[in-house]
Amino acid sequence: MHTAEHSSKLAQQDRDHLWHAMVKFNEQASPLMAVSGDGAWFTAADGNRYMDGVSGLWCLNLGHGRKEIAQVVYDQLMNVSYFPLTMSHEPAIELSAKLSELLGAPYTTFFTCSGSEANEAAFKIARQYHAQTGKPEKIKIISRYRAYHGSTLGALSATAQANRKLKYGAEAPGFLHVPPPYAYRPSFEDDLAAANHIENVIEWEGPDTIAAVIMEPFISGGGVIIPTPAYLQRVAEICRKHNVLLITDEVVSGFGRTGKMFGFMHSEGVQPDIVTMAKGLTAGCMPLGATAVRAHLYDAFKQAEAGSHFRHVSTFGGHPASCAAALKTIEILEEEQIPNRVARLSQDTMKELNRLESCQIVGEVRGVGFLYGIEIVEDKKTKAPASEETMLAIVGGCKEKGLIIGRNGDTVPGYQNILIVAPPLSSTEEDLQFLVDTVKNIVKKEAAKQS
Ligand code: PLP
Repeated sequence: MHTAEHSSKLAQQDRDHLWHAMVKFNEQASPLMAVSGDGAWFTAADGNRYMDGVSGLWCLNLGHGRKEIAQVVYDQLMNVSYFPLTMSHEPAIELSAKLSELLGAPYTTFFTCSGSEANEAAFKIARQYHAQTGKPEKIKIISRYRAYHGSTLGALSATAQANRKLKYGAEAPGFLHVPPPYAYRPSFEDDLAAANHIENVIEWEGPDTIAAVIMEPFISGGGVIIPTPAYLQRVAEICRKHNVLLITDEVVSGFGRTGKMFGFMHSEGVQPDIVTMAKGLTAGCMPLGATAVRAHLYDAFKQAEAGSHFRHVSTFGGHPASCAAALKTIEILEEEQIPNRVARLSQDTMKELNRLESCQIVGEVRGVGFLYGIEIVEDKKTKAPASEETMLAIVGGCKEKGLIIGRNGDTVPGYQNILIVAPPLSSTEEDLQFLVDTVKNIVKKEAAKQS
């Protein structure tokens, strides 16, 4: 099938007809095209094998070729191929009950197709909840600079990465941003001061105007920023005090990525009002988003005036085959104790990557579970971010050696200087060793070039 002639025809059609996500138009010459996959590895049309050190887009958590997941999708499509959630079906019912169990408190879940949509639904639920409990002015959503919450206009407005908004005109109204706790480039004395700043903003804006705070427990695409557990605890306390809903975006950090089933579980005692999920929910095998809402919030919807309902629908949201894939994914995560495995194996990986901090171009190495960020700088003292050339040399060098790694997205102009590594949670110990050795060698080689 993949003869040289066929590959060259595909490459031409790709250039002519396929609009790629996030690829600069002048860089579209030869995109990597996967032709087969096996665990954490894939073979590309160029004939080379690569380890996927970023799990696709941080979602392929159990690797390629999980037969058990493929089988339930097939079985579901052969039985009930589609059914909307204006009515009901068994996989969605079972999945909503399972999510409630995993989240550690009673939750009711609304299903969508993606993380962006899960966050959109969360914002609308938060606003409607307040409107239905006598606080219709509570509409503003607070999020943090550097955070990414999705590409649709509401989720993009919660996203606080300047470059992502260029040329898209006005944002949705009612979104406010605050700096994250970021020990390496601090805006505050410490993490608690960063949390307390959120309280200041709530008070200055007027608590009766604030609907919710949304945050990832660990900023992922914005550069892997890891706060102390006390940060989220303090934010949760502030939210409770001001009747502001706490939404945790677990699109990346959910389902074992950080060494616990959910990222918020690193902060003891925190139970978010709303949890949004996607990506790892189906281990990247099927599209699915989920917005889980604490029981007391859902009850307020049930008790609202007659005829009240959540006026939101997604044709493919909670597709039966996607829900079946999610149920099987969760079964595997539990059976193979993936979160514990990640927590255990990440200790060695982290230790090895940390050694890079002695390198003159490495400002800081950060990580939690299988989520690592390596901040590359021109100068350790001034912390000036590494040049585009350096970043491309490192990412390209890893690719040449058969390892795909990423960088923080189009976050802050000039600060796309953080390497991101997030391998499949099922990566073997040999895979992880290959990853660590390759990253270390390439970064050291680049440092030597610059010394
Ligand atoms: N939230 C976070 C933290 C993400 O990283 C992403 C995607 O990368 C999203 C939301 C949006 O998810 P999706 O691409 O499925 O819309």
